[in-house]
Amino acid sequence: MAEKVVIIGSGPAGWAAAIYASRANLAPLVYEGAITEENRVNGTLPLGQLSLTTEVENYPGFPAGRLDGFLTTAIDPTRLRGMPPLTDQSHPVTGPELMELMRQQATNFETRIVTDDIIDVDLDSRPMKVISLEGRTVETETLIVATGARANYLGLPSEDAFKNRGVSACAVCDGALPRFRNRPLVVVGGGDSAIEEATYLAKYASAVYLVHRRDELRASQIMQKRAIGNPKIEIVWSHVVNQVLGDEQQGVTGVSVRSTKDDSVQTLEATGMFLAIGHTPNTDFLKGKLETTAKGYIQLTEPFRTWTSKPGVFAAGDVADDYYRQAITSAGSGCRAALDAERYLASSEA
Ligand code: NAP
Repeated sequence: MAEKVVIIGSGPAGWAAAIYASRANLAPLVYEGAITEENRVNGTLPLGQLSLTTEVENYPGFPAGRLDGFLTTAIDPTRLRGMPPLTDQSHPVTGPELMELMRQQATNFETRIVTDDIIDVDLDSRPMKVISLEGRTVETETLIVATGARANYLGLPSEDAFKNRGVSACAVCDGALPRFRNRPLVVVGGGDSAIEEATYLAKYASAVYLVHRRDELRASQIMQKRAIGNPKIEIVWSHVVNQVLGDEQQGVTGVSVRSTKDDSVQTLEATGMFLAIGHTPNTDFLKGKLETTAKGYIQLTEPFRTWTSKPGVFAAGDVADDYYRQAITSAGSGCRAALDAERYLASSEA
């Protein structure tokens, strides 16, 4: 028997879709992703990008507080064992905690979860088919794609070594952490995101070096003005990152950069390096099967809908959004995708 709803992805969009679909008695089947070395390296393990961050201070409903009692009563004890240690001190909810809470909420309403990747799809047959890494084929009447996007990194071994200890790809998520306050920081990139991140970080940091590989920014004029007019932001033109410097104890202590004009090298003292060099949507398995934008994001076909180029296929979260990219906007679109799927099923039965 075909599934009513299959959801691919386990970030806020996937779980919000699962909560809504399960409460509509559609018994959704969620493919949360596989636990593989490739996914670890790419930052695409189950529970999405939020599981790679530390504290989440901007998700409504989660002000800082003593969450230990709540978490131990809400989350299945077998899942608690795999989580970072809980602290009994007042703290903002962390990304992994928030994602476990969302996953738990979905399972409370009988969402079924498979810890595997979907590697291929047939969206033309009815029912449609999804094929997993482990080789299982599942038929489904509707599909919600919520596979997210991954931040691009430079690919330096030193960058990998200091991830979560000074290297981050999300200033809004991590910028207010104590290690970044009143200290110099580096932002890499020259687009709108880089300026936005640098401007945001400048509120906390003593100085922000914006390292850009060219002598001209890609960012819009208004954003450029914002960076150039900010006394705390110094643009390091025509430089690329050579190496992230630091040690086991302190994490990042500086960034070595090289001039693209004359190859000269200098060290920028900094306690953090933020990447803002774009994102890559996780749509490889959809190539040629679903319309995507020039940048590879799923193309939505109607404003305010989660409809895609194939009937019965809906997209939610960062996989279809290169603009807002927030947990709350993803969760909202996951809800919309589940409602769209429910209405599609109702209209096909009518
Ligand atoms: P983007 O516009 O693609 O810019 C990426 C930047 O990273 C470029 O400056 C690029 O350099 C640089 N870069 C890429 N790969 C690199 C590498 N390997 N090493 C060094 N530098 C590298 O991406 P984005 O800034 O994330 O923006 C994405 C979209 O969101 C855009 O449409 C943007 O307008 C929008 N956005 C808007 C706002 C806003 O309006 N407030 C805020 C954020 C984002 P080059 O310039 O040399 O290619």
